[in-house]
Amino acid sequence: MSTATDTRAAVLREASLTICGRREGKTKACTSCLRKADAAVRMATRPDLNTALLPRLADVICGSAGHPCPDCWEKATTLLLELRP
Ligand SMILES: [Zn+2]
Ligand SMILES: [Zn+2]
Repeated sequence: MSTATDTRAAVLREASLTICGRREGKTKACTSCLRKADAAVRMATRPDLNTALLPRLADVICGSAGHPCPDCWEKATTLLLELRP
């Protein structure tokens, strides 16, 4: 049986791994990426936010002030596909 909280925790864990960078054997993201994942998931799952979601997401992940790096653009794209199928 899975509760909404469990689901959210699982989504967060997956998102944080995407942000931190997946590699074999890695099961946990670092604290900083966990925090970013929290903000990113909240942003990505807002139904009212459709335009400019990708750049904003990339910005949250990169922690840049409006100029996310290519790496984080890619992570944001992946994350968006995972969160909004
Ligand atoms: Zn990390
Ligand atoms: Zn970046």
